[in-house]
Amino acid sequence: MGLSIATDYFEETGDAEPYLRRIAEAGFSHIHWCHEWCTDHLYADEAIDRIGDLLKELGLTLLDLHASAGDKHQWFSADEAMRLKGMALVRNRVEMTHRLGGAAIVLHLPNMWPDEPDGDSALERVHRSLKELEPYATERGVKVAVENGRFREPEFETLKGLLAAYPSRFLGLCYDSGHGHIGGRGLECLDKLKDRLISVHLHDNDGKADQHALPFTGTLDWAGLTRVLAGSSYRGCVSLEVSMRKSAMRDETVFLKQAHEAGTRIDRMIREQRDG
Ligand SMILES: [Zn+2]
Repeated sequence: MGLSIATDYFEETGDAEPYLRRIAEAGFSHIHWCHEWCTDHLYADEAIDRIGDLLKELGLTLLDLHASAGDKHQWFSADEAMRLKGMALVRNRVEMTHRLGGAAIVLHLPNMWPDEPDGDSALERVHRSLKELEPYATERGVKVAVENGRFREPEFETLKGLLAAYPSRFLGLCYDSGHGHIGGRGLECLDKLKDRLISVHLHDNDGKADQHALPFTGTLDWAGLTRVLAGSSYRGCVSLEVSMRKSAMRDETVFLKQAHEAGTRIDRMIREQRDG
């Protein structure tokens, strides 16, 4: 089935090659491309081709990609010029995902909840951008996954409405287990949206802060989560969004080995839930 890890477990920007090499050496088969997820960086065609060649050499497959919003390129911005630049950045990542054979891009959402001061207009801009993106992404066979935050009540309802407004061939959910755990409502909310699940960011924390810790080192209910995942629409492999930067660990080889063991254990738990 395979096992995936986020490329930015150590560095979020710059050249991913050293990390890709260590990811492959640790035995992972897939990656979640996370580099430059929070910058304005646009990948040139040649750079995408070089990444493609490197993945082939290392025997790695792109599962999905964390798409971007930077300081000047924001696809949900109230400044129309900035929104349009943001759309160009998101299209760049859709094209990159398409060329590298990935299934989906993941997008963070702005604060667009009805109890936020700018909530309604932010939601309108999100709709405008998603409608513009839909034909471009669909033509390239790339889905868009919107990522959950802490699932406060207005967030859940808004996210549910957003998913209902678009076909599943275009839009789905990326479930971030760490975000969901902090709010305490993650599993309950995921269970209600599990038929639209197309991507996962699996990591652990203490229920208080977004630590991106290795699974089974925090307080997350992994038995409960794997039960919901087993009954969901998600068909990809276990995908970890863990961070060594946020941990006390300093040895990448040890960190990746422990991540691989945790991912393998989650994969086994999901299979047992499906079979049992
Ligand atoms: Zn995430």
